[in-house]
Amino acid sequence: MKKVLVCEDEAAIREFVVINLKRSGYEVVEAGSGEEALQKYDEEKGGVDIALLDIMLPDGNGLEYMKALRQGREGDVPILLLTGLTSQEDVIQGLAAGGDDYLTKPYDFPILLARIEALLRRADRIPKTLQAGKLVLDITSCTASMEGRDLLLTQKEFALLSLFVQNQGQVISGEYLYEKVWKTSTAGDTQALKTAVARLRNKIRESGFCIVSARGEGYCLEQE
Ligand code: CA
Repeated sequence: MKKVLVCEDEAAIREFVVINLKRSGYEVVEAGSGEEALQKYDEEKGGVDIALLDIMLPDGNGLEYMKALRQGREGDVPILLLTGLTSQEDVIQGLAAGGDDYLTKPYDFPILLARIEALLRRADRIPKTLQAGKLVLDITSCTASMEGRDLLLTQKEFALLSLFVQNQGQVISGEYLYEKVWKTSTAGDTQALKTAVARLRNKIRESGFCIVSARGEGYCLEQE
């Protein structure tokens, strides 16, 4: 069963959408504000399959919450923007900011449902695993395994390894890794990165790949 996060501050609209989604066989998590949406999303720990996000929220602009959903969180959940703003610029801005689709209010439920189904079909076509030789990374559960054996990576080790696997053979700068994995700049201190890379090297031994340091520049995943 797919799970939909519905973020809408107008209770009557939210209730209408929630009831109809449930009738259509979806699990629903509801939020009446942007902050509540982020909190519920985190509580689901990657369990949300799609998010419906109202743009005009009592605690700010839905586009800002969309960015917050996208950044610093695992998973790349499809986001359908619900907007009462009909001007073309608002729509373009919403899509440019990372929305997957939008629907202008008032909308009919069958149209909302069709859009949701289309986004979920598209998301299902995106590969859920990354592979490098014997290494298999499961993007959904954030776990990595080698010949079926779980490598027991920490969240940060997993994030690092997926960046390495996606950029095989290319040097990735320490600065970039810090930004992506620790969500902060190095501020000159690269100890956390060095430690994480050392642990990761150990865990992927015998995978046929190794993490090579490019002195002063960063790291690179190379085939042995
Ligand atoms: Ca609203």
